[in-house]
Amino acid sequence: MDYDVVVVGGGTAGCVLAARLSQDSSVRVLLLEAGAEQGPADTLNDVAMWDSPVDWAYRSTPQRGLDEVVVAIPRGKVLGGCSTINSLAHLRGHRSSYDTWEEAGAAGWNNDTLLPFLKGSETAVGMDPRWRGTDGPMVLELGPPAEAGSFYHATYRAALDCGYRRSPDGNGQHVEGIARTEFNIVNGARQSATEAYLRPALGRPNLTVRTGATARRLVLTRGRCTGVEYTTGDDTHTARARRDVVVTAGAVIPAVTVSFMAAYAIVRGWSGRFLRAVNGLFLMGLAIPLQATIIPIYLIIIRLHLYDSLLALILPSIAFAIPLSVLVLANFIRDVPKELFE
Ligand SMILES: Cc1cc2nc3c(=O)[nH]c(=O)nc-3n(C[C@H](O)[C@H](O)[C@H](O)COP(=O)(O)OP(=O)(O)OC[C@H]3O[C@@H](n4cnc5c(N)ncnc54)[C@H](O)[C@@H]3O)c2cc1C
Repeated sequence: MDYDVVVVGGGTAGCVLAARLSQDSSVRVLLLEAGAEQGPADTLNDVAMWDSPVDWAYRSTPQRGLDEVVVAIPRGKVLGGCSTINSLAHLRGHRSSYDTWEEAGAAGWNNDTLLPFLKGSETAVGMDPRWRGTDGPMVLELGPPAEAGSFYHATYRAALDCGYRRSPDGNGQHVEGIARTEFNIVNGARQSATEAYLRPALGRPNLTVRTGATARRLVLTRGRCTGVEYTTGDDTHTARARRDVVVTAGAVIPAVTVSFMAAYAIVRGWSGRFLRAVNGLFLMGLAIPLQATIIPIYLIIIRLHLYDSLLALILPSIAFAIPLSVLVLANFIRDVPKELFE
């Protein structure tokens, strides 16, 4: 199928992009998400979703600095991505972090130029509208105040005693200091990027969302990315992008996936022409000499009337088994990464 833009990964960024891009009804957008359409019903408890079907459940290598502990790295495998399984705290970056973008060469990208977009993304009721949004898609709720006698209250008092100042709004003018956390929770329910951005856009005829659709490789035509090859179950599809392919598949991708993705792309790319030719050569190159070497043995078998001997059974089998196993192995290599991605 042809689209204008194909977005790979329907996580936090993918949902926002798909919704924003499809605001223009002349732009046909496809959003591909490997995971399911929805998370479990109790979606406020992020830890309960770790190691569940909506978590890629990555693991670190043993960490030398942590006594070789293997660290769990949860990542959302579901529409909304990590925003469907995260802890819902709404925290802007520090202005100095955004200013480093411009210092690093991204001309025009700094805290001041970003502020209208940060404001445009949120509805922060009761906050100073000079710094905070009033009609954006993400509706924010302040967490409950720390109850006297609670652990949080003790932490809060301790911070003040240490000289840290109180901030009326941790996402406002003064981000340093002790403030109540804001959450992406609306009326007690999780507000993921799916709910805030994508769901209101789902009725648009120019937006197609595919879940259970895993991107396998980017299609390159004369050095330009022109589409995405993806699978749903055992079926392979190609989505062509007339304008752009945007990859928002998350920042954490295990090295093994990347290398297999590369191997898979290379082998798949070759499979049509090269691999089939190699298969043929293996068959011819191995079968012919092997069969040639057993012809004299066959002649002896015939001469000595050894038709019923074990030798007469084994030799032809070897002659065919070796090239056949090479053929099977070549095809196995071609298909194995597909299984690893599931
Ligand atoms: C447990 C947890 C708690 C967190 N708590 C907070 C918090 O309280 N506050 C906060 O601000 N941040 C929090 N974060 C971080 C925040 O949620 C993430 O930084 C953010 O959601 C990342 O967005 P993303 O779009 O880059 O990636 P993701 O949201 O991870 O999206 C990537 C998407 O791509 C999909 N994908 C991957 N590979 C493929 C493929 N080959 N084909 C198709 N689709 C693919 C994935 O399934 C996923 O849906 C938390 C994260 C986690 C995991």
